Amino acid sequence: MLPEILALAGRTLAADAYSVWQYDDATGIWSVAARVGLSDEYVAAAMTAIRGNTATVSLDAPIVAEDIERTAWLTPEHRKAHAADGTRSMMALPLHYGERVLGTLVVYYGEPRSFSESEKSTAMLLANLAAAAIGTAELYQAQRRLAEDQRFVAEASELLASSLDYETTLSNLATLAVPRFADWCAIDMVGDDGSIHRLTVAHVDPEKVRWAQDLADQYPPDTSAPYGVPNVIRTQEPELFREIPDDLLREATADTPELYAILEALGLNSSMCVPLVARGRALGAITFVSAESGRRYEEADLATAQDLARRAAISVDNARLFREAEGSRREAQESLAVVDAVFAAAPVGLAFMDTSFRYVRVNEALAAMNGLPSEEHSGRTLRDVLGEDLASEIEPLHSQVLESGEPILDRYVEQALPTAPGETRNWLVGYYPVLDADENTIGVGVVITDVSEREQARAAAERAGARLAVLAEASQTLASTLDYESTLASLASLLVPRFADWYAVDIVDENGLFRRLAVVHSDPAKSEWAEKSRDLYPPDLEEDEGTGRAVRTGEAVLYRTISDELLASSTKDAAHNEILHQLGMASAMVVPLTAAGRTFGGLMLVSSDPARLYDEDDLEFAKHLGRRAAVAVDNARLYRAAEERARAAIVVEHVADGVLLVDQDEIIRLWNPAAEHITGLAAAETVGRSTAEVFSPWKTIAELAERGEPRPETQPVEINGRELWLSITGVGFEGGTVYAFRDLTAERAVEKLKSDFVSTVSHELRTPLAAIYGAALTLRREDVPLGEPQRMGLLEVIASESDRLARIVNDILWASRLESGTMQTTIQRCDGVAIARSVVDAARHYIPPSIELAIKAPKKAPLVAADPDKARQVLTNLVDNAVKYSPDGGRVIVEITVEGPQLRYAVHDDGLGVPPLEHRRIFEKFYRLDPDLTRGVGGTGLGLYISRGLLERMGGRIWVESSGTGGSTFLAELPIAAD
Ligand code: ADP
Repeated sequence: MLPEILALAGRTLAADAYSVWQYDDATGIWSVAARVGLSDEYVAAAMTAIRGNTATVSLDAPIVAEDIERTAWLTPEHRKAHAADGTRSMMALPLHYGERVLGTLVVYYGEPRSFSESEKSTAMLLANLAAAAIGTAELYQAQRRLAEDQRFVAEASELLASSLDYETTLSNLATLAVPRFADWCAIDMVGDDGSIHRLTVAHVDPEKVRWAQDLADQYPPDTSAPYGVPNVIRTQEPELFREIPDDLLREATADTPELYAILEALGLNSSMCVPLVARGRALGAITFVSAESGRRYEEADLATAQDLARRAAISVDNARLFREAEGSRREAQESLAVVDAVFAAAPVGLAFMDTSFRYVRVNEALAAMNGLPSEEHSGRTLRDVLGEDLASEIEPLHSQVLESGEPILDRYVEQALPTAPGETRNWLVGYYPVLDADENTIGVGVVITDVSEREQARAAAERAGARLAVLAEASQTLASTLDYESTLASLASLLVPRFADWYAVDIVDENGLFRRLAVVHSDPAKSEWAEKSRDLYPPDLEEDEGTGRAVRTGEAVLYRTISDELLASSTKDAAHNEILHQLGMASAMVVPLTAAGRTFGGLMLVSSDPARLYDEDDLEFAKHLGRRAAVAVDNARLYRAAEERARAAIVVEHVADGVLLVDQDEIIRLWNPAAEHITGLAAAETVGRSTAEVFSPWKTIAELAERGEPRPETQPVEINGRELWLSITGVGFEGGTVYAFRDLTAERAVEKLKSDFVSTVSHELRTPLAAIYGAALTLRREDVPLGEPQRMGLLEVIASESDRLARIVNDILWASRLESGTMQTTIQRCDGVAIARSVVDAARHYIPPSIELAIKAPKKAPLVAADPDKARQVLTNLVDNAVKYSPDGGRVIVEITVEGPQLRYAVHDDGLGVPPLEHRRIFEKFYRLDPDLTRGVGGTGLGLYISRGLLERMGGRIWVESSGTGGSTFLAELPIAAD
């Protein structure tokens, strides 16, 4: 439109240059809207200059400057600008449109000139035409914009209503605004925390959008600035900058000069910022900026923008409200779903009951407990589902919760399930009030937790603890004494009735026979039955079940439940069965008592209570107990054995018999003191040596044990260079042989003497008898004539041999009297010397000529207290022996001395003598030195025995002194008689 006006002016007014100035009546600013033939410099300078022009020029008529240099109403700057452009004169024609001044149409000339009236009126005409055209065009444009804006608002409104996704919607809104309503459109939103963030920036050029976004990121708005988005949001008041003054830009970018350069380059023209306010809250702000379009926002545009902002705010608010509602609805739905899931899958029983004890809802766990599908619970009452008894127990609890509004928590209940009536389980039950939104109690919530396992675990732990305690106590009891019989019995107090109703311990011996050590019943009335069962029906090794089996197999047996059949099959007869029935056998355990690999008994624990059935844990406990008991018994036995051995050792030590232990290698291992005494060999000399080294010969002794006869046998054996007669027995055992022996050497000698005596006596008797018999026969012969001397000689033989016979018989008689204690002695004062003289005188009659017999006696000797016959007998014996055992002749002297209170007779001879070792033994009965030592001199071995016996009875004594050769001296003493 304006270029056409300028072209028309050029054709009609023939000027050098033309322009249309526009006047903004809102701001009072003049600006060049179109031009021909004017330099940019002029336009810029003129536009600046005109602002500083304070002159008032009438715009009713053409304004002329015929010589610009001299035109006063132009400012010097303006004049200078004209001069620079070569303009010397000009004419400005006001453009009126109705009352409004739209601007001026200006024509310029290079020469000063005067304008004629006709020129002026032609120009005015032109101006009026142009003004009319501009005005109409403006009007039309305004209308079109209005229409466009309205369409924009309509479209925007539609857009805003289209979606609940307000972020996208607002972005679309911004895009919609560009370029129809603005060159730039930015939307900022207030976050939950009050911070402002840019939601969107729109521009036709996507490049610029990115750039603007970067800018916004880089230069966040100063929230405290007195204008701009933060201010609008803060104050909820819109801002309108019809134009964006340079000062404002500079001020706004005082801290960031580079931003200023950018903004200046953007050519920002006009801007509006309107708050998004809903329900009194600023949600954000929309900023419209015009730049390259040159659009200037007016109040009307601001109104449009505000209208748009209001709609947008409502839309955002709605979207947000919806979103919140949606969110909370979803949340509610989600939480309901969670509750449902938990309710359904909870391992605890859950139920909701109404106020009239009816099930409203139950979960699967509870339904399973009740044994009724969950859906079949609804509407049913407690009574319907649980039955009268249980319901009448539970209803008061529901009532209590409903009335008090207080929960009942963790009620502990032991109850079998209707689905499994046999099995008592443990429950924790809670009842709590269920309230509606108005806090009214609308029912009862029930939570049932099955704590059976927990309870069982707790009970098991408790039982285990108790078992441990018992084991500890049992160990102590068992270790406290070695008397295992009483200990095993005392275990009962630990076990009955805590672990068993009755208890029995049986021990089996080597022959497989059971002996009852203990049987204890918790019920004293039944104890007797228990005893009876064991006395009458002891276990036996062959039995299929029970103690016999456990001992036979060495394995523990658990009878968790004892059926009648089992009982019947393992009892011996009806009476036995009856006894066990009486005792009550619900469950039992038998454990073998095994120690050192040997099973020697069984321990039985019995429960008569069907509620107490033994399980593997109990069996394990019983095994432990059994092991400990077995070890205790074994220890006690070992101790006993050791004690017995110790006692045996003492016996061996003190026994009078010689005892020796010989091992399998025939090495002597034990040699007791009696053996030492008998043999004269110390243990140190024999232990460790072979038997053959000690005993000679050993073979015959070893044969004794091999024969396996415990009968002692008497054998001669040489030990330590001596011959001993030992009565010996030998008993073999796995480790060797034990021999016991007794020294029978002396007895053996006596035996020998006895047999010798018999032969001696027979011989001694036969000799005189033969002589007497021979003499008598000779005397009787009539064919042989005997002279008197011969006859007298024979008679003499008869007489002396008879005498000898009489003495032998006498000796035997006296010996037996001494032995039997029937020897009579009559002690009297008598002359010991006279007795000796008479004995010597008598002996002179029969001693051989080779013997010289003498007596030496003090002239005066005291009397002795003695039996004179017995004293004469003693002296006769001594003198006879002296003569007898001097076969080679010699002197026999009887010497009498007074030795203190005794009268001593010493009978010396030069005969065979007596070896010192035999000095004592020759006085023993029948003892005679062997024939070599006596050179065959006969005798009975009684003479000295009798002599000693007689002297002892008279208070005297007898002994011998002899080196063994060269004679001997026998000494006899008799007490001197008191005055
Ligand atoms: P007997 O003379 O009858 O044998 P005795 O009792 O009188 O019995 O003597 C016991 C033994 O003592 C004798 O056998 C003899 O060996 C020994 N005896 C006794 N008197 C003498 C003696 N004077 N000289 C040597 N030996 C004697």
